[in-house]
Amino acid sequence: MFKMKKATYTMLDGSKRTIEYDENAPCILCGKPVIEVSMAGPTICPWCDSGCPRPEVAIIMSQKFLARRK
Ligand SMILES: [Zn+2]
Repeated sequence: MFKMKKATYTMLDGSKRTIEYDENAPCILCGKPVIEVSMAGPTICPWCDSGCPRPEVAIIMSQKFLARRK
């Protein structure tokens, strides 16, 4: 059964705001499921938000890098 995840943000004025999001919704930057909300909201995955490649992307990048050195 489809279930929305919930996340609570603390606003600048200290108030809390809970949002519901779909963990399988694609990230607007990398197109993969967001899994968790980032500080930028539920439309951008935490990896894109922090500028870090996702673990699976980092592995592919390092393999390409090693292949180039041969
Ligand atoms: Zn992303």
